[in-house]
Amino acid sequence: MPRTSQPQPDRLADSRTRILVVEDEQDLADLIRHALEREKHMTVDTVTSGDAALQLVAQHVPDLVLLDLNLPGVDGFEVCRLLRARPTTSQVPIIMLTARAGEPDRIAGLDLGADDYIVKPFSLRELAARVRAVLRRRQPQAAPPLSLYRGKHLVADFDAVAVQVEGQAVRLTRREFELLRCLVENRNRVLSRDRLLEIVWGYDQFIETRSVDVHIGRLRAKLGPAGNQIETVVGLGYRFVE
Ligand code: CA
Repeated sequence: MPRTSQPQPDRLADSRTRILVVEDEQDLADLIRHALEREKHMTVDTVTSGDAALQLVAQHVPDLVLLDLNLPGVDGFEVCRLLRARPTTSQVPIIMLTARAGEPDRIAGLDLGADDYIVKPFSLRELAARVRAVLRRRQPQAAPPLSLYRGKHLVADFDAVAVQVEGQAVRLTRREFELLRCLVENRNRVLSRDRLLEIVWGYDQFIETRSVDVHIGRLRAKLGPAGNQIETVVGLGYRFVE
């Protein structure tokens, strides 16, 4: 069937796995980039300082960060701590790279939430294999779809397509229902407008992200007290809180 619209170019680019390499030795950063970009689905950005890494990540969240510990200025431990503290990057896999092989460093890195730890010198093939392994582990688990949600105000039976607030049935359109399902399945996590568009509307439809705001507004109004649980997270998106 012919498509009625083309995906936007930036969304196409998004389908590749984006790796950020934070390494102050430019030669090593370039070697790592070449090694990883040999894998066709990966695209690699390199930066040489912790500050630059934090700036770049604020603009575009990568799928994985390779992080040298020994950096000028903000060091790798601090970068790791900040990435874990920010809601947008708290789940991004981090592999630490370091010349420091001591156990205290390894433990500190893992305690800060690093997913893996590679001691220099390392082979590029091993590095690529570790990157693949961490990405595999972090693949979104195919969580079984939620069939019933029972909250303080809201009861949503997703199998029966029945929604109640304070015991009263609420009629939702299909989009509103899917939007609610998506928010509830990801409760307490922020979903960007783009992500909601992707999940609820799919890639094929050309819809402005503003439509998400309109549908959220209607959904909130219909859900009354449960509608207040849908929070706007300024600059990021929406979150269903409980
Ligand atoms: Ca270094």
